[in-house]
Amino acid sequence: MNLSIKIFIALVLAVIVGLIAGEPALPFINWWIAPIGTIFINLIKMMIVPVVLCSLVVGMTSLGDTTKLGRIGIKTILLYLVTTAIAIIIGFSVAGLAHPGLGLQMTSDAVVKVKEAPSIMQVFVAMVPANPVASMAKADILPVIVFALFIGVGILKVGGERADILIKFFDACAEVSYKIIGIVMSFAPIGVFALLLPVVAKNGPSVLLPLISVIACVAVGCLIHAVAVYSTLAKVWGGHTPAQFFRGMSEAMLIAFTTCSSAAALPVNMKNSQEKLGVSRDVSSFVLPLGATINMDGTALYMGVCSLFIANVFGIDLTYGQMAMIVLTGTLASIGTAGVPGAGLIMLAMVLQSVNLPMEGLALVAGIDRVLDMFRTCLNITGDGAVAIVMDQEEKRYAKKQAA
Ligand code: ASP
Repeated sequence: MNLSIKIFIALVLAVIVGLIAGEPALPFINWWIAPIGTIFINLIKMMIVPVVLCSLVVGMTSLGDTTKLGRIGIKTILLYLVTTAIAIIIGFSVAGLAHPGLGLQMTSDAVVKVKEAPSIMQVFVAMVPANPVASMAKADILPVIVFALFIGVGILKVGGERADILIKFFDACAEVSYKIIGIVMSFAPIGVFALLLPVVAKNGPSVLLPLISVIACVAVGCLIHAVAVYSTLAKVWGGHTPAQFFRGMSEAMLIAFTTCSSAAALPVNMKNSQEKLGVSRDVSSFVLPLGATINMDGTALYMGVCSLFIANVFGIDLTYGQMAMIVLTGTLASIGTAGVPGAGLIMLAMVLQSVNLPMEGLALVAGIDRVLDMFRTCLNITGDGAVAIVMDQEEKRYAKKQAA
């Protein structure tokens, strides 16, 4: 049976058992079942640092060489970052209007007092690791990301055979990390059951409705982002009408929607962007694989919606500073998200951690994560297609200038 169906069944079972058992069973559940949930969360946390470090280095080195990094790499990455930050803000706005989870009040033993938000300069200072190993040990993710970017640039600058060894090394490490995540996720049904059971037993049926509102927020947010941002980019740069753009993207979008994997949709995206949207082979074979690795607007949007949802559910008021922190870590986390099913959930843990939101919130989201993944992956690859159109036009303009 498919894993997502198993997770969904675990969710339903946890709800049924939790409702039947209710508060009287809580001491038993907290003593015997809840720790299993904690083990599952620990397994997820275990993979954050390795997967961020390896997939970022792989993403950077896929740029090939520093000249290309300088010319189209920087512009592409900037565009990816800007659209990602916009996506997370759209996620916040939609969730801010719809208030998913408000009214459902849960408490978490793990809720620590909400951290005082640091000033923006403090954030920048904290981003640069004085000791990367210490940052990794503390799972301090921003400095780890910065370190990974430097390793990537360093490898590109060294080039040649010695760089190849490292590229292969990080590539293999990334593959191993994905495999381990796959193993961890195979325990997700048990983990989700163990995390959710105490929540439902304690809070009763009120826990269900908010989940539907989370799905609606992510779906609406994705739609707004695709129409407002991507079709505008495709129109202004490529001259495609929204209908042409979405028709050209439709096959890849469908594959992404059903497989929940940007990597799986990449081949179709490459083919269609060349054949249906007129993107040159050069640009598409550079921009799209990079995008499938680092550009995850749907994932970022989902992080915005889910962190607000989890804050609502646990009765935590996010400060503007914390929201800015979520935009920053969410943008960076989405870069480190692998283009495989369920990867965004792991990275959501990292975003929650960055502003001290309770990890128990993950269990709520995990039960419906596959549905959310369909929407976010679809948006992820649509964004890659839109940016490919922009960069293609930029390259054509550059070539014309060179010729003149
Ligand atoms: N499944 C997504 C993708 O492949 C990543 C995620 O889980 O957010 O793009």
